Amino acid sequence: MKKVAVLGSTGSIGTQTLEVISRRSDLFSVHSLVAYSNGEKLQEQCEQFHPQYSQLLTVDSDAMIKAVKGADIVMVATRGISALKAVLYCLDNGIEIALANKETLICAGKLIKERLAVSKAHLYPVDSEHCAIWQCLNGQKPASLVLTASGGAFYNIPTEQLDKMKSVDALRHPNWNMGSKITIDSATLMNKAFEVLEASVLFDVPLCDIEVVVHRQSVVHSMVRYPDGSIIAQMAVPDMRLPILYALTGGHHVEGCVSQLSFDKMLSLTFERPDMEKFPCLKLPAYIDGKGDLMPTVLCAADEVCVEAYMNGDIVFGDFYKIISKAVEHFSGILPPVQTVSDIEETDKKVRLYTKSLIYEVL
Ligand code: NDP
Ligand code: MG
Repeated sequence: MKKVAVLGSTGSIGTQTLEVISRRSDLFSVHSLVAYSNGEKLQEQCEQFHPQYSQLLTVDSDAMIKAVKGADIVMVATRGISALKAVLYCLDNGIEIALANKETLICAGKLIKERLAVSKAHLYPVDSEHCAIWQCLNGQKPASLVLTASGGAFYNIPTEQLDKMKSVDALRHPNWNMGSKITIDSATLMNKAFEVLEASVLFDVPLCDIEVVVHRQSVVHSMVRYPDGSIIAQMAVPDMRLPILYALTGGHHVEGCVSQLSFDKMLSLTFERPDMEKFPCLKLPAYIDGKGDLMPTVLCAADEVCVEAYMNGDIVFGDFYKIISKAVEHFSGILPPVQTVSDIEETDKKVRLYTKSLIYEVL
């Protein structure tokens, strides 16, 4: 029986993690729950799962460290880089990690990998594409990785109409039901840009060996190319409870909550190159390549500010790339190499301020 700490328990991944745990209560119990501000939902979860510890981050900013102590595995499903210190604490103390949150890994890739190399603990990816690649790799050396992208809510909208599309439209994702931030990021393809960076860190593959293909049906979750020309793909219905369970078990295919993929109901599977002119955010990983360890933090922080501004109606769809690439240009060459957590946190703050100034003072 594994004791699970759930960081971000009130969110989309957090609630699905609790569903998986309650379905497989023979394998898992809830050790602790941490949320940010939704006290009502956290209270309901406590009544159902009786954790040893639960807290809101708005009440105690150290809640994540307190929550992971004594856990066997920690589901990291918070927003942004808020869980960074808790992730490093887990690695230093041999506590296993199931990582849904991609920002932490992208921004602190170097620090996390240094710790992982000497840690007793493992870090298991929950993001469906990375979970798929993990399954396809099976310990072998790939030639390259192929990430699939659903294309998001605006894939079929003509370019000239994109600036008329509002955040409520972007929040109607065709295949996945996720939190608002990642759903907006799916519409801009910024989420895929983050996932390219995430895959590079996780699997030690250079950015030039990671391709993205648009696969509207979200049935093939990603693929690995091998030197002999073989491509191995992982397929399943689009349901995050599958990668959540796979990560919590440490990489085992056990029965959970997800139905089998039916070939009777399945339409054709299609694959096409993404339109980089229509969705230029996808160019950003190549754009920051070689520009320094802190550039992913610039992307994450600038994007988070843009998502908030877009949700408030302060910017239009086409502004995402303009603003984020301006932030990248501004910070190129002036950031030091990452040494500590505070290097990342300080850069995050600076980039937020700069991005806000671009939106609210210049534009
Ligand atoms: P949600 O927005 O649904 O949930 C976010 C969780 O984090 C909530 O529990 C929320 O608490 C908490 N939270 C909000 N703001 C903060 C903050 N400032 N500091 C710490 N915690 C905060 O997000 P998702 O579940 O969709 O995504 C979580 C992470 O997983 C993201 O990094 C995302 O990229 C990644 N991910 C998500 C997928 C999905 O299918 N949803 C798929 C792959 C990756 P409260 O509600 O109490 O305010
Ligand atoms: Mg994903």
